[in-house]
Amino acid sequence: MFVVGLTGGIGSGKTAASDYLAAKGITVVDADVASRIVVTPGQPALEAIRQHFGDTVIAADGGLDRRALREIVFADPAQRQALEAITHPAINHEIRRQIAASASAYTLLVSPLLLETRQHELADRVLLIDAPEALQVARATARDGVSLKQVEAIIAAQMPREQKRARADDVLLNDGLLGHLHRDLDILHARYLALAATSSA
Ligand code: ATP
Repeated sequence: MFVVGLTGGIGSGKTAASDYLAAKGITVVDADVASRIVVTPGQPALEAIRQHFGDTVIAADGGLDRRALREIVFADPAQRQALEAITHPAINHEIRRQIAASASAYTLLVSPLLLETRQHELADRVLLIDAPEALQVARATARDGVSLKQVEAIIAAQMPREQKRARADDVLLNDGLLGHLHRDLDILHARYLALAATSSA
């Protein structure tokens, strides 16, 4: 299975890009979705979290009390590492399961943390959706109703654009009309179909 990892900062246009390729029949595996699945009741990662952090991080309905957990890991980097040591392998396992179940010509793995985690190891190729910070801020604030300060804090915590650009195989600058993004994606889609066909031959 040929896997294209798609990443980009907040408001860069990852969803706009993956929606377009999904409409062409490409299976999209979403790392954010996988990260929520692994902490649903009955999942081993949730039990491991309960064992490490205690019952205070379990909500009344048996699910994860995200707010309680966030407070613990926000205040303590060691606890954050402990949490990631539990969740990251579980998320990768879930992503691999979904990739294995994909029947499309290639599979798109969409993740804001593709390069920051080991998720990029699951991808044969990395596509970065890149946008100037001013546009990231404008799009994210308009979409989510979050403050300028919040978006700037998130951008500051993410891997810098330049580092991401250096590590990506393909970079699409999403600074124009959506139609331009789609035309650029048409070209890459054709390339990915060809690469997938060669890799499975
Ligand atoms: P996040 O990481 O925050 O989920 P994202 O990278 O998935 O963000 P999108 O949700 O695709 O980003 O885009 C952010 C917002 O900007 C959306 O409302 C989207 O419709 C809009 N947008 C994206 N690209 C363009 C564009 N080229 N022109 C106009 N609007 C755009």
